[in-house]
Amino acid sequence: AIPLVVAINTSLAARNGILVRDRIAMEQARELDAIIFDKTGTLTQGEHGVVNMATIGGVDEAEALGLAAAVEGDSEHMIARAIREAADERGVETPDATGFEAMKGRGVSATVDGQEIFVGGPNLLDHLDSDVPADLASFADEAGENAQTVVYLVREGELVAAFAMADVIREESYRVVDALHDLDIEVAMLTGDSEDVANAVADELGIDTVFAEVLPEDKDTKVQELQDQGKLVAMVGDGVNDAPALTRADVGIAIGSGTDVAVQSADVILVQNNPMDVVRLVKLSKASYRKMQ
Ligand code: ADP
Ligand code: MG
Repeated sequence: AIPLVVAINTSLAARNGILVRDRIAMEQARELDAIIFDKTGTLTQGEHGVVNMATIGGVDEAEALGLAAAVEGDSEHMIARAIREAADERGVETPDATGFEAMKGRGVSATVDGQEIFVGGPNLLDHLDSDVPADLASFADEAGENAQTVVYLVREGELVAAFAMADVIREESYRVVDALHDLDIEVAMLTGDSEDVANAVADELGIDTVFAEVLPEDKDTKVQELQDQGKLVAMVGDGVNDAPALTRADVGIAIGSGTDVAVQSADVILVQNNPMDVVRLVKLSKASYRKMQ
């Protein structure tokens, strides 16, 4: 028989914007050893703005921004939106692009004026076997120290520009980490973003474990890595990219206006986009368990 108390608390949960798709997982939440958070849009606001840019080899800034905006024309990614907005704000004309291709967790590519253009982060450079040129190294370092995400523009095989984008840590995230530590739960962060940005955010928040520059298809292996240490693990995320990790986790938690895929992969859905609800969920699970004994 389904314990009555769990049923009661499921509706209590629902009233708090916590929708339980899998009761067993909700029960397991009381015993969690570690919770992994997606960084962008979960611990941070995920609303990037371009704060700085640099070009090399005498490439015109407006031209570089226009090319980047053209290649990002078809992308839903927050980085793409930021680049298009920056081009708009500076009144830069965006040329036509064809043959858009999204490279999950890396960036995008398209053809502009017969030139092959890529825009993306460190994972893209790895993929293209490209390095950050010496002239841009200090730009990238400085951005990293300031927890800014850097994406690069590669034209016809040559890295010609870099854009630094700032995201903002959510106010609630500080309290979430503290509250989970009070509950003896390890707090981890998982992101496709660079080591620099990830470490800056983790240091600021006091996060215990950091997985950075993780490709979407590898996110679930990081969940497994903690599980292999004998830990009961929850994953909190919102994106399509997070779905395999949500499935792999003992407790998969979709947050906010999560994509359909994330929601379908989750055991629990947090309707409000508030990471503090993760703490409420754990506490509710602990309270239910006590009553059942
Ligand atoms: P997260 O783990 O933060 O959700 P993603 O997996 O979506 O990140 O992306 C990881 C990285 O891939 C980004 O930090 C960026 O470097 C690069 N990237 C992804 N999509 C784009 C895009 N449309 N334009 C530029 N870079 C991108
Ligand atoms: Mg994400």
